[in-house]
Amino acid sequence: MLIVVSLLLLTMALSAVMLLVLSSLRKSGARGIREWSAANALAVVSLPLFAARGVVPDFFSIELANTLLLGTTVLMLAGFRRHLNVDVPCCRLAACVALGLAAILALHHGVDSVGGRVVAMSLLHSALLAEMGVVVWRQLAQTGRRYPALFTVCAAFANAAFQLVRALVYGAQAAGVQLPWDDATLSLVFFSAGALSLPALTLGAVMMANAELVARARHAADHDHLTGARSRRAFFDLATREQARALRRQAPLSLLLFDVDHFKRINDTHGHAAGDRVLVDIVERTGAVVRSIDTVARLGGEEFAVLLPDTGADTALLVAERLRHGLERAPDREAGIAAGYTVSIGAATLALGESIDAMLSRADAALYAAKAGGRNAVAAAPSL
Ligand code: GH3
Ligand code: MG
Ligand code: MG
Repeated sequence: MLIVVSLLLLTMALSAVMLLVLSSLRKSGARGIREWSAANALAVVSLPLFAARGVVPDFFSIELANTLLLGTTVLMLAGFRRHLNVDVPCCRLAACVALGLAAILALHHGVDSVGGRVVAMSLLHSALLAEMGVVVWRQLAQTGRRYPALFTVCAAFANAAFQLVRALVYGAQAAGVQLPWDDATLSLVFFSAGALSLPALTLGAVMMANAELVARARHAADHDHLTGARSRRAFFDLATREQARALRRQAPLSLLLFDVDHFKRINDTHGHAAGDRVLVDIVERTGAVVRSIDTVARLGGEEFAVLLPDTGADTALLVAERLRHGLERAPDREAGIAAGYTVSIGAATLALGESIDAMLSRADAALYAAKAGGRNAVAAAPSL
């Protein structure tokens, strides 16, 4: 009995630690943190109530403790659903807790059966944990961050299976089946395994939230906030990788550098917001012209780059001309484009042993030539 009480208090302490870990993520904006925190807070309250059996009135150590503990599993499930953008069926979850309370009341004040209460609670926990596993499993295929979700799925299904076994064992015992283990051994085994349930699920939750935050930060660093195009940083990372690949495979690599013509005028005449709308429009239209393996990046201001892997100088010029034509735009009120615009493009193809910076400088010189030649034009950098 002393060991069981120690286990309960240890689990309570673990939940308190998890609560502190979760509170470090409170302001992160990750979804589900509130529900997971509430679940651990409920555990901190309910576990000592179980441990205080015989010391406090039965209502607290049986009805209240069991209902609160069921609430922790319900809240963990709600947290995972919220985190994964799956609707949270509040009424169903509340009904589940009410059902648990009704079962406990009936199996305490109706037929007083400890085994019956264990069976009822274990079945409810098992169903909720299995649902948790299924919800996270369904998202597993869609996310690139597999390990945290996989960890959570395993923890949820392992605990669901454990609760089911617990229900079967206590059910068999209540039905009078002679089991080879005594009560003390059984409760020790089940309490030991049960002690890990909530901390393991919370650990999975924290890992999932963390992975999402890292992915969000990476996305913010790699993408331009306004247009959604790749950022300058991501462009140079990708270009360096493509350069190495081109060298390895002896494949051509080309770059188009383009700049909006007289963009300052658009801003001055129609306002900064109209200018911003033009920049967004440019990235959308560029994406429609180039292939999916081409990278569209905003290098700064109203200057963009398109990296064209496996593309030689002649094809790059064709693409540049197609892009220039595709970006020639008259005002379109319906699409929210207050000002028409054109772009000038400089094209360069990577020479043997050339660096990305050097290729970019040549493309820039070509762009300058296109501007000098009257704008709304394409110019190719001379091949080295
Ligand atoms: P050119 O044809 O020679 O390229 O002339 P330009 O007017 O396009 O070039 P200039 O470099 O003189 O002006 C670029 C303008 O782009 C100035 C700057 O205020 C504006 N700009 C830079 N970033 C943004 C942005 O994020 N949004 C908006 N609306 N304007 C921006
Ligand atoms: Mg410009
Ligand atoms: Mg410019």
